[in-house]
Amino acid sequence: MTLQAGVVAVQGDVSEHAAAIERAASAHGQDSKIVEIREAGLVPQCDVLLVPGGESTTISRLLQREGIAEEIVAHVEAGKPMLATCAGLIVSATDAQDDRVETLNLLDVTVERNAFGRQKDSFETALDIDGLDEPFPAVFIRAPVIDEAFEDVEVLAEFDGNPVAVRQGPVVGTSFHPELTPDSRLHDLAFFETTE
Ligand code: GLN
Repeated sequence: MTLQAGVVAVQGDVSEHAAAIERAASAHGQDSKIVEIREAGLVPQCDVLLVPGGESTTISRLLQREGIAEEIVAHVEAGKPMLATCAGLIVSATDAQDDRVETLNLLDVTVERNAFGRQKDSFETALDIDGLDEPFPAVFIRAPVIDEAFEDVEVLAEFDGNPVAVRQGPVVGTSFHPELTPDSRLHDLAFFETTE
């Protein structure tokens, strides 16, 4: 069976995520087909979904305008896996503390955009993540932190006392970019180690 993996491609990085999904799928003996999501009508054919980094204001505006937002919500309501990274996490939250971002309310968290100080605008750290045996090389780029994770949210990793990786039902969200190193364990965790 071929895994149909939708990657939201209205803005932001697609190819690295596509490569990571393909590596994770082939480790499970599965072929994968990457579906680039730029318009409505494609999400319903996807088994898993990825909302990448980029600029959350732009991504949320385009998702709403194109009618993709409601399809993403339906995907999650159907219990299908989704991974949301960096700006994708902001867009998926219940509260982005920024009126310019119309959130999808899929992760019951309050996030703060660009929360790491200037000296830490971009950095990499080895992060302990629940469900992974060895630390994960996490690359943060103008990343959000999660200020508050409410009761239905499982915190998978913290950095400097704040959650930076969470799971709620079929949705995994990360502040960092798991696609920027050859390590595809986070994509594997999100898409193949679901709690459903
Ligand atoms: N700073 C961006 C935002 O607030 C997120 C950065 C990223 O996705 N790397 O939307």
